[in-house]
Formats: sequence, C-alpha cells, structure tokens
Amino acid sequence: MAIETHPQGETAGGARAADRLRMLQGWAMVRRAPGYVWRPATVAAIPEVFARARQAHTTIAPRGAGYSYNDAALNSEAIVLDLTALRGITAWDPATGVITVEPGVTIRDLWRTVLPDGWWPPVVPGTMGPTIGGCLAMNVHGKNAWRAGPIGEHVLACDLLTPDGTTRTITPIGDPDLFHAAIGGMGLLGIFTSITLQMRRVRNGRVQTHHFAARDLSEMFAIFARETIPGTRPEADYLVGWVDGFASGASLGRGLVERADFIEEADPASLRLAAQDVPPRIAGIVPRSELWRVMKPMFNDPIMRLANGAQYRRGSAAHAAPVPHAQFHFFHDYMPNWQRAWLPGGLRQFQVFVPRAAAASTFATLLRFAQTADIPPYLVVFKQHRANQSLLAYELDGFSLSLDFHVTARNATRLDTLLHALRRPVMDVGGRFYMAKDDVIDAADFARSLGAERVAAFLAIKQRLDPEKILMSNLGRRILAMEILPTSIGGDSSIE
Ligand SMILES: Cc1cc2nc3c(=O)[nH]c(=O)nc-3n(C[C@H](O)[C@H](O)[C@H](O)COP(=O)(O)OP(=O)(O)OC[C@H]3O[C@@H](n4cnc5c(N)ncnc54)[C@H](O)[C@@H]3O)c2cc1C
Repeated sequence: MAIETHPQGETAGGARAADRLRMLQGWAMVRRAPGYVWRPATVAAIPEVFARARQAHTTIAPRGAGYSYNDAALNSEAIVLDLTALRGITAWDPATGVITVEPGVTIRDLWRTVLPDGWWPPVVPGTMGPTIGGCLAMNVHGKNAWRAGPIGEHVLACDLLTPDGTTRTITPIGDPDLFHAAIGGMGLLGIFTSITLQMRRVRNGRVQTHHFAARDLSEMFAIFARETIPGTRPEADYLVGWVDGFASGASLGRGLVERADFIEEADPASLRLAAQDVPPRIAGIVPRSELWRVMKPMFNDPIMRLANGAQYRRGSAAHAAPVPHAQFHFFHDYMPNWQRAWLPGGLRQFQVFVPRAAAASTFATLLRFAQTADIPPYLVVFKQHRANQSLLAYELDGFSLSLDFHVTARNATRLDTLLHALRRPVMDVGGRFYMAKDDVIDAADFARSLGAERVAAFLAIKQRLDPEKILMSNLGRRILAMEILPTSIGGDSSIE
C-alpha cells in the first residue's frame, strides 16, 4: 500500500517527519495504518509530543506493546505515541505487595519482579507481552474475572497526563468518576504515566490444575456453576472453557474446562524464575520461536476439527497436576509469534459478553451461525465475569465467548458478513463487545451495546480534559459518535 506523507510544514523533526512514518498493525494482522511514531525515553518528554501535535493540528494515539488485536493503537497518518521505553519499576515493597511502575512495564516484567518475593499479579491476560499502561486502558481481565474483576479493581492509584500538560494522581476514592472513566478509556482521556498496583500473596510458584469434559454447552454452564459456587469443594481460583467450535447438533458447545487453584503449601524453590520457564527447544530439537512455522500448515479446517475434538477428549481423562503460574496463564507465549501461523490472511476475533440469563441461547446461536456460514472458529474460549464500575465496562454479570476465525482469500468477504451478522443476537440481549479485540462494530453499535448515556458521559469527560480532541485513535474514530470529532482527521486507512 502506498504511504502518503504530509509535506506541508513537515520539516525534519516535525510532528509528522517522514522518517517517523511506520506501517503499524494490530496484533491480529488485519487492521493496519501508517503512523508517525514518537517513542519518548522519559515521561517528562511526553508534553513535548502534545505540543508538536497541537502545532501540526494532528492527533495522538497512545500505544503500548501493540497486543490489541484491532485498531486501538493505530492512528492513520497521525502520531502514535509508543510508550514501551518507559519501563522503570519505580517502587516495590515485598512486605505489602504494592508496586509502582511506569506504563511500558510489561506483564512479564511485573510477574518476574514480584514472584521471587512471594507475590503474583492479581489479574493477567492470556499473554505476558502487554504493557501495564495498555492493560489499564483496556481494563483487561484474566481467567479469574468472575472473582477478581478486571485489572482496574487492583489499581491503588495512577498518574494521568492530559493534553494540557497536567498530571493528575487519581484514585478510586479520591476521584472516582475520572478514575473509572480513564481505566478502560482506551487511551482517549490521558496517558497513564505511573501506576500503583496491589499484588496477591502466593506461597507456591505453581497452581493445581484439573480438567473436566463438557459434553455440550449446557454442561459447560453446569460445570462453571459447580466450580464457582463453594459447595462440596471450594470455589475455583481460575476457570476457563475451551469450546470445540466444530461440534454441532447434540454436541454443540462441548469442550474442556480447566480449573486451577493456588497451592497453599509453601515451596520457596518453586517461586524461583527458573521454575517458571519452559525449555527454549521442544524435545531439545525444535526451537519454540520456530514452532509457528510447524503449525502454519495445520491451520485448515480438517486439522483444526481434529485438534478441537482432541482438546475436548483431554477432559475425559482424570487430570490433576501442579503447573507453574506462568505456564498456566501464558500458554500463547510458549509458541512465540503464533499469530504468524494465521498468515497470510491473519485472524479476526469476536469476543462478546452476555448477561447470565441469555448467555446459553446466545452462545448457541453464535456457534450455529458460524457453522451455517461454513466458517468454523478455530479457537473458542469461554469465561465467566462480573460487573464492574468502569464507565465503558465491557464486562457484566454473565459470560464471555471469544471466537477466533482464520481469514483466507476464499472466506474474507463471507467472514466479514458473518461477523456483522453475529453482532445482532448479542445486542438484542444487552450484550457487549471487547474493544481490545473487536474490529466490527461502529458508533451506533457501541452506543447501543453500552448505553448511549454512558458514551455521552465519557464524551463529556473527554470534552473537559481534551477539548481539542488531541487523543484519538482509529478505534476511537470508529466507535465514538463522529460529530464530536474534527473533520480534518482521516479514518482507518485499510482493512485488508
Ligand atoms: C494472545 C493474546 C491474548 C490476550 N488475552 C487477553 C485476556 O485474556 N484478557 C484480556 O483482557 N485481554 C487479552 N488480550 C488483549 C490485551 O491484553 C489488550 O489488548 C491490552 O490492552 C494490550 O496491551 P498493550 O500494551 O499491547 O496495548 P496496545 O495494544 O498497544 O494498546 C491498547 C490500548 O491502550 C492504549 N494505551 C496504551 N498505553 C497507554 C498508556 N500508557 N496510557 C493510556 N493509554 C494507553 C492504546 O491507545 C490502546 O487504546 C490478549 C491479547 C493477545 C495478543
């Protein structure tokens, strides 16, 4: 794709100097856009980028590690503020488990700092690559979402730098409205420059895992109910379902449920970092970094059908094994660059959050729609959630289903039609979408799914903090009502 620069007033060192132009993409490799990348080495250098953006009448999208699947950290032909150089651990107190970090510190940096002292992050996503700033901006959740809520519930305080150059230290008690708008605010209200989090005490470096087979969707819900309500055994610490996206008829929604629990027995040796890592080569031969090449030819319907069936059957065998924390949480990372196995088309993930009462019927509808369209999802993940106070909260009291679709030359148009069709059954029952993954919905869908009054309240706060609308991303332009936005700024340049 040709990249156009803006010659008007773009001297060397200007906001949109040609040597800063990079083609950036979302993690799923479907959304792409050229952006002028600024990577400040210190927090103190950020206001200078705001000043240059203002001078050049352009916008800024913050960017962490770029692990959002979509256009959240893209900004077509405008500034992308890369925060990954801000990687300092400012304070760590092993006595209280309170840590203060710069925004570019990753989930990996975080757990590797705290685990040897007997702590673990209270919420982690399925990969350790994301930055803490990016995780706050999307208010990420883990496999304990119904128990622990999203990461925002564990933030004690954070510093928010707004385009006028002001830094506000915000806390859930001191400034609840701004706190709950900025966390989950997609980087559109300010830049998180410092974040203080409470870690969770652990005495053992491993979790005890158990597997269960769910023969259909109703059994999947029944197992979740059994394992999340204290009864004959205590409530699970973590729970996740892997649904076979190919199973149909009476087996629709069958899958494997994985439970994991903290181990209370103290084992200092298991807290060592070496006890968490997997060997860099499989069977001493295949480097993990090359595994995606081995997997790539397997990304087709017949082999994925077999793999999904095999995953379901794993649940039938009795299984109880202690697994290092990192290996349980970050299975994606043990096949580095696994998204490349989906090339050349990439993948599109559709993750929805549906109220408890409507979840079973809605999830069955989504799976049936995909199968009827003859585009079965290769990876389907099921989780339970609770409501939280974030103004733009995607989580609610209910369940989520994420469906990963392989984009091919043959299915690209049909897949787009399918994804648009899948929105309706979700919105009809008051369901919501996850803005770290979604690449389908528009401003009308966003307002309908979240509630127009919530979107209006968010925009009112933005108007107060950022009246010039300097903070903007392709995602923001796509899902917020366009009348508040400057007309001079373009939209997403490509979805290929
Ligand atoms: C394999 C994989 C598994 C995942 N599993 C999960 C999961 O289990 N649960 C879950 O919730 N998510 C999950 N995610 C999504 C991921 O956690 C989020 O997209 C997260 O926001 C990525 O962080 P990042 O640092 O890469 O941010 P980016 O993707 O670069 O940016 C995300 C958003 O944060 C904003 N932003 C970045 N830094 C800042 C800052 N300092 N201040 C203000 N705004 C900022 C950006 O503008 C953008 O809107 C997964 C992603 C992948 C690739």
